[in-house]
Order: sequence, then C-alpha cells, then structure tokens
Amino acid sequence: MKTVVEHYDVVVVGKGNAALCAALAARDKGASVAMLEAAAQDESGGNSRFAGGVMRFAYASVDDLKRVTDLTDAEVADSDFGSNTTDEFFDDLFRLTSFRTDPVLSEMLVTQSLDIMVWLRSKGVRFVPNFGRQSALVNGKRRFFGRMPIEASGGGAGLVQMLDKAVDAAGIRIFYSTRAKRLIQDGDRVVGVRASAAGKPVDFMAKAVVLACGGFEANPEMRARYLGTGWELAKVRGTRFNQGDGIKMALDIGAAPYGNWSGCHATGWDLNAPEFGDVNVGDQFQKHSYIFGLLINANGKRFVDEGADFHSFTYAKYGGEVLKQPGQFAWQVFDSKVAKLLRSEYRIRMMTKVSGNTLEELAARLEGVDPKAFLQTVHAYNAAVRTQVPFDHTIKDGRGTVGIEPPKSNWAQALDTPPFDAYATTCGITFTFGGLRIDPASGQVLDVTLAPIPGLFCAGEMVGGLFYFNYPSGTGLVSGALFGRVAGTGAARAAVETAHEEHTIVNV
Ligand SMILES: Cc1cc2nc3c(=O)[nH]c(=O)nc-3n(C[C@H](O)[C@H](O)[C@H](O)COP(=O)(O)OP(=O)(O)OC[C@H]3O[C@@H](n4cnc5c(N)ncnc54)[C@H](O)[C@@H]3O)c2cc1C
Repeated sequence: MKTVVEHYDVVVVGKGNAALCAALAARDKGASVAMLEAAAQDESGGNSRFAGGVMRFAYASVDDLKRVTDLTDAEVADSDFGSNTTDEFFDDLFRLTSFRTDPVLSEMLVTQSLDIMVWLRSKGVRFVPNFGRQSALVNGKRRFFGRMPIEASGGGAGLVQMLDKAVDAAGIRIFYSTRAKRLIQDGDRVVGVRASAAGKPVDFMAKAVVLACGGFEANPEMRARYLGTGWELAKVRGTRFNQGDGIKMALDIGAAPYGNWSGCHATGWDLNAPEFGDVNVGDQFQKHSYIFGLLINANGKRFVDEGADFHSFTYAKYGGEVLKQPGQFAWQVFDSKVAKLLRSEYRIRMMTKVSGNTLEELAARLEGVDPKAFLQTVHAYNAAVRTQVPFDHTIKDGRGTVGIEPPKSNWAQALDTPPFDAYATTCGITFTFGGLRIDPASGQVLDVTLAPIPGLFCAGEMVGGLFYFNYPSGTGLVSGALFGRVAGTGAARAAVETAHEEHTIVNV
C-alpha cells in the first residue's frame, strides 16, 4: 500500500488538553502544526473530555482569582474563597507524593499554575466558581474548601470544546481516526511519525514531534505488567484510546522512563459501570462522598480511614485500596443525616444502590457482604464516634473515632438515622503516573543517558515524575496545560533551529 506523506513543522500526537495546549503554543511561535487523534471526532478529546474540570492552581487572594474568572462584587462579598498559596500547594503536593515529586517539575507546576490559567483564559477558556462540588453555605456566606474554587465551564468536555475552537481559529489541522504507531528517525533525530489513518499508512514528517497521547491506563496488559497483579481487573474511567502507545514508541527509541511506574490515580467507581468511560455520563460513575459514610468490604469490614482528609486528597489512592479487597468491591454506606451532603453523582440513574429501613434490612441487601460482620462493624463504629466534637463538613472537623481500627479521623457520625443507603463501587483507574523523563525547560524527551532526543517532546499524562502514590485533585489538567505549553514552545523552537536542514530518512 502506498504511504501518504504529510509535512509540518510540528506534529502533535493526541488531542486532549495537553496536546491542544502544545499545538496552540507551537502555533503561537509561528510553526505549522498538525494534530493526530486516534479516536474519531465523536470520541475525541481523551481523558480531558471526561474530566470534571476542576483546576488546582496557586492563588493568594480573590484578586488572583479575578485574573482567571469574572466574579461579581456580590460573589466576592458573599464568598470565602480561602487561598491556595504556593506554600499550601507545595505542602499538598509534597505530602501526597511522600516528597518524591520531581523538585523542578513540581516547582514549575506550583509557581506557574496561575499563569497557565490566565493563558488558558486568553485562549478562550471560560472558568467559573465551583459552587456545586467545592463549597457550602456557612452562616449565610459561601465557603469554598479543598483549596480549589475554580472549574472549567462545562467541565472537561467544555474545556476541550473551547480549546478545539481556539485550535480551529489558529488554523491547526486535526487528523481524526489517525493512530500514531512509531517514530521516524534520521539517525538519532526524530523527524516524524508513522501513523495509521483509517487503516492506511501515513508518514507525518515534522521538524519536531510532541507526544501527548496519554498513559497506559486503558491497556490491561500494561496495567498488570507495571501496576501489578489485579490491575487488569480495574474499570477505566475515561477514554479507551490511551493504550500506552506514546510511551512505547518513545521507549523503543531509547527514551528514559521516569516516575512512579507502579503507581496510578484510581478512585471508587460504580461496580457495574462499563469497561471504559461513557462520554454521556462523564465522571459521574465516581462516588466521592465516602468521607461522610463507611466503606465496607466483602468480609463486612472497614479497610481505610474514610475521613483521613477531604476527598481531594484521598480519592486518587482509595480506588487502589478497593481493588485490593476480596472481589474487588466495596459498598459505601450512609444514613439519611448526610443524604443532602452527597455529591451530584449519587443522584444519577445508572448506579448500583440498595436501601434499608433498618441496618439489618440493609445488611441483607449488601450483595457479597457477610451481613453479621457488617452489623458488628457498624455497631463498633457507632460506639466509637467522638460525639462531643461538633460535625462540620466544611473543615477537617476532628470529629473522629476512638479505639477502632482503622480509625475514621474526621466527619464521623453514627449510622443511626434511617433510611440507610449503600452504593456498590469497584476500582476505576484514571491515569498512570509513570512516564517519560523530560527536560523541564523545553519539554524535550531525554534518553536513558539523560541526553535530549533531538526532535522529540512530550506533555500531559506522559510526563513522568510529578505524581507518586497519590495526587491532589485538579492537578492533571493544570499540569497538562502547563507542560503542553512548554513542549509546544520547545518543539516550535526546535523546528526553527532545524528549518533549513535536509534529512535523509533512513528507517521509514
Ligand atoms: C473521569 C475523570 C475525571 C477527571 N477529572 C479531573 C478534574 O476534574 N481535574 C483534573 O485536573 N483532572 C481530571 N482528570 C484527569 C485529567 O483528565 C487528565 O490528567 C488529563 O486529561 C490528561 O490530559 P492529556 O492531554 O495528557 O491526556 P488525554 O486527555 O487522555 O489525551 C490523550 C489523547 O491521546 C490520544 N491518543 C492515544 N493514543 C494515541 C495514538 N497512538 N495516536 C494518536 N492519538 C492517541 C487520545 O485519543 C487522546 O486524544 C479526570 C480524569 C478522568 C478520567
């Protein structure tokens, strides 16, 4: 079959948030840019499109927020937006990653996070306060918690749509149903990508290539190989197209692997959700209000501290804890006292829910759970709650338990007010932490000797070294945009530098 050949200054692989930002940044520097998207247009946009759209960035005051979003005087007067100073952001990132996060990457992320939000806004992305999921009315004032008051309008899908528009306006061509298969080299220099476009081979020749095509979360073989036994059994929260292609292509030419290759972001996810994400449901199969209830396994036992912290700081690792349980499931159990605090995802039609008017009735309906052990667990928990400490869901209230293992450290309330509701969850993987090593200043991929690979850049989930063991919510989109812009700018510069060179293609 004849191979079609296309020529661009910069070819970007992927069409999620990181790729879109890389393409825009490269175009801003004058490069001609093409984007290759494995998915057809109606399924395009990667995990970014499935994202809730919350954005974690450093802000010292409401004046910083005003650089990102329009706030009315009334909204400012009636709200307590708190802060997420660079110190607080550093603390969260360092604490959650057990101080393993790459110092240079994390410093860039924290200190440039506000600037990248302003840049996204300049590209037409609209941001709004996250009233629904990160705030509550306290004494007549809206208090935001979790240090993350802003989200993209329309969530991740809205973000991708707005960036799509910017890319279109910038004259960047997107090739859909075009899956990158391998990198083309001239000596050590990357000079293009061999892709399969609806089954036909196409060589996209370029002066620089940016890989922004996600991790290996949708690939069960790679999950089992790198994350460990059992991970092939996880459900995939987002796109089915992130098969680890970009990582494999780069490793094949000697790129350095970097970061927490046995680690990933994974959350509680409806037990009967489909194998991959459903764009019509988005992130709503998740169940993030476990902090107000109990997590119960098949043996009728609790297995984590549900109230260790705001969900933003525990949810990304608790999916993995659910996967370790017998049968890879856990029921989230609540009483009616907290029903009004449960997030919107507890009110969708497609979920696995049972209810009971007594704990005994509920116990009999918790499929797969030892009912006797469950009742013992709840009675012991109810007796252990420090009832003298007031409950306040807008702060870490310290209303914990005494004398039970594991403890529940905050938001503990006896399960005593019927009706009781329970939601069945399993592990949903979001994205993988391991990736490639880059030069943080340019986004250029390094080889195993830590020398830059000429012509090769990467961004987004593919960048290794930022996240280890855990992850603060809202960081993926911000880091994707930031390192997307870095890689796009780096690639465009490289394109200019090599503009007049002639390449002999040796291994097409
Ligand atoms: C349900 C869910 C909710 C989330 N909520 C949030 C949130 O609220 N806030 C937040 O910050 N993060 C959130 N995240 C995480 C966030 O979505 C990711 O960190 C981010 O989208 C990654 O962006 P990316 O551009 O690197 O990858 P992606 O957006 O996944 O893009 C990868 C792209 O590469 C394409 N691709 C893959 N292989 C190939 C190939 N061989 N050739 C061509 N194209 C290819 C894919 O089709 C896709 O277009 C969420 C994720 C999920 C799944």
